[in-house]
Amino acid sequence: MTDSPLFYQAGPALPEVSHADGVMLWDTQGKDYLDGCSGAISCNLGHGRQDIRDAMLAQMDKVAFTYRTQFESAPAVALGHRLVELFEGELGKVFFISSGSEAVESALKLARQYFFALGQPQRQRFVSLRPSYHGSTMGALGMTGYQPLEAPFTSMTHASIKVPGPDFYRHQECDDDTHVDRILAETRSAMEAAGPESLIGFVIEPIGGASTGARLLGKRYLQGIRALCDEFGCLLIADEVLTGVGRTGTWFACQHYDVVPDILVTAKGLGAGYYPIGAMLARSAIVETVMASGGFQHGHTYAGNPLACATGLAVLEAIVREDLLENTRQRGAQLEAGLRRLAERYDWVGHVRGAGLLWGVELVADGESRQPFPAEQNRFAQITALAKQEGLLIYPRRTLDGVAGDHFLVCPPLTIQPEEVDTLLERLARAMARFDQALSAADLPPQPSRERLTP
Ligand code: PLP
Repeated sequence: MTDSPLFYQAGPALPEVSHADGVMLWDTQGKDYLDGCSGAISCNLGHGRQDIRDAMLAQMDKVAFTYRTQFESAPAVALGHRLVELFEGELGKVFFISSGSEAVESALKLARQYFFALGQPQRQRFVSLRPSYHGSTMGALGMTGYQPLEAPFTSMTHASIKVPGPDFYRHQECDDDTHVDRILAETRSAMEAAGPESLIGFVIEPIGGASTGARLLGKRYLQGIRALCDEFGCLLIADEVLTGVGRTGTWFACQHYDVVPDILVTAKGLGAGYYPIGAMLARSAIVETVMASGGFQHGHTYAGNPLACATGLAVLEAIVREDLLENTRQRGAQLEAGLRRLAERYDWVGHVRGAGLLWGVELVADGESRQPFPAEQNRFAQITALAKQEGLLIYPRRTLDGVAGDHFLVCPPLTIQPEEVDTLLERLARAMARFDQALSAADLPPQPSRERLTP
């Protein structure tokens, strides 16, 4: 333990940040770091932006905070309209919150209240994937499929029915379509066993985030889940806290698969690290039903305040003005090519997967059998520490429930430029070479073995 009063993570003391600009951060010792994971996949526009600062200051000069039940504000209404346009009006209503976990809580409660209002109070269960991550508050944790996070709280959460998603890396017994069809059949059985009349909805990350190392689920699977929800009369809830607002090269990851959910939540990239803001988008019919039944019994103090919404609006405007969805696709292709070249050098790199500027690199003890490293070896932490020494921040996660190896995410700001992608890859190459040497010499420094409590 250091003498800091803060207790976020076990392990050695952290460097103290001094300042940041674009994709770079500096600590107080003068060392620079390329932000290869946008903080917590949140600083999507990079650091130190004048336009966001100006928009925030302009709003603060007018009014920073008003409570949502006392005043409407121009930035809140404008941001609501912008978000509705991104799904061409199909998700016609918006509710603001301040974090991803709050966003997921809001979706669970809206969905429950919808069926309550419809006179179907027996609908009480959700379905979600294992592995998955949906947040750290009790409701969201109940949706989360990740043993180390769940374990202390299982008796206290309202746990969802957990089903596996497709795993295009590990399944080897059949072609991909057959694999998806089997997984969908297994999911249907689990939903039937629970009783279709008891289900509220299916909560899903359309492209996996930190929990799966950017695992892709594919169009066949997601459209299959949409069809199952329709058949069982329950709601599809897309958790785009991490993938939303451009991260994968479209505004939302669902749009890769031509799937429109009934409720969608997003957060991290909406405030882009400048101010906490998240949003829940829902079909108008759901919201109208709930509102007609007496209103949505939910809310958080800071939700949708003018400063938060002015920030979110400035973020969306910057994405459009600078054509950052296109930059995400182009720089994503450059990053993917570089990661695949690096992966070819080492048989402990099992799989590289992702979309846009969200890439996962999975590490395995044996490339042939795809066997993960033993969890206690903490390979994810070791490679992350080496990358940090080389001046690169990547986002680590450990072996998950025995179904996926250690991995790290590479997900720099959507503003990254070609030469900065090259620098990122050079620093990663050095870290991977050092990891490889240390692995052969069985000489890796011990890293904290405690699970990170937030992904
Ligand atoms: N859902 C997903 C998919 C996430 O990745 C996260 C955070 O990593 C959350 C929910 C929770 O968001 P927050 O940390 O803002 O509460």
